[in-house]
Amino acid sequence: MTEQKQERESWNYESLEEIIEAIRDQEHDYDTIGLQGPDGIKPKVIEYANRLREEGFETVIVGASTFGACGIADEKVKRMGADALIHIGHTRFLHPEKADMKDYDVYYLPYREDREIMPILEEHYEEIDKDEKIGLVGVTQYMDRAEEAREFLESKGYDVVEGTTGLRTTETGQVLGCDAGAAHNVSHKVDAFVFLGSGHFHPSQVSETGKKVYVVDPYQEHIWIEPPNSLEDEMQAEYARVIKHKDKKKWGIVTSSKKGQNYMMAVEIAKEKLESYGKDVYVFVEDRIFESDYKGYGIDIYVNCACPRMTKDWRDMAFVSPKALEVLDELEIEH
Ligand code: SF4
Repeated sequence: MTEQKQERESWNYESLEEIIEAIRDQEHDYDTIGLQGPDGIKPKVIEYANRLREEGFETVIVGASTFGACGIADEKVKRMGADALIHIGHTRFLHPEKADMKDYDVYYLPYREDREIMPILEEHYEEIDKDEKIGLVGVTQYMDRAEEAREFLESKGYDVVEGTTGLRTTETGQVLGCDAGAAHNVSHKVDAFVFLGSGHFHPSQVSETGKKVYVVDPYQEHIWIEPPNSLEDEMQAEYARVIKHKDKKKWGIVTSSKKGQNYMMAVEIAKEKLESYGKDVYVFVEDRIFESDYKGYGIDIYVNCACPRMTKDWRDMAFVSPKALEVLDELEIEH
């Protein structure tokens, strides 16, 4: 294991007991520990708080749900006197613009789904074409079984290429809604991907590599195929929004104050580009971004420089990704 890989993985723990041991071993002298988790495991958060209290720690819990480790609530718990934070649900998030994400002690306890995935792979693997070189990717909930899946596929004669981490991720093959880098990094070596997880959202990010994706789906209980480039329509819809508003004078750019969703370089690049086309640009910041907050400013189109996932289904206002601004270069714009 390379030093870099070891460093990346050492931030993630598999149980609260491991974290308690680390906190004690490292003699940090913590008194108060913050806890933060996603919806759906709130009873677990209380259970963890009780366990920490048994160990003599004071606890403070972040009330709002978390969608990713991009939103570590270090500042909130620090304000409450916490010495460290346990972020439940996700692996450590690396900032794509290299902003410092480790200036506070955060212990990551990723959520692993109890639902069995290996029996689905074992029962349906023959649907994966054996002549194809495979890249193995998936979501955090199942990455604890990625090695087992790889060994199984190899034992059945599949050629599974060595995986990598993405730009924001710490586990090999791990894909986030904002980062399919683990797939892109190996896409030139593979014919198709095997994806551990469910739903279309993450497989469609992987399909942007131009490769088909075999989804080993523990909810559907079979393997289905996400076709290559399945996000193409979505991108075309974004270009259409930019084209529709191309002559508007006022444009907004939205970013988040959440540490891992605050993309200042993206803001600067988008702002510069829009200004080069004579636009008046207004930059907005908010912790969690709601569509309704952006009504009433007299601005019809906003560039989302926060979590790319957030604005995807919004229809009242026109929100586009920074990438969609590319289309401006091909248009005649009224200055
Ligand atoms: S998709 Fe959004 S919520 Fe999920 S990790 Fe990325 S920035 Fe965070």
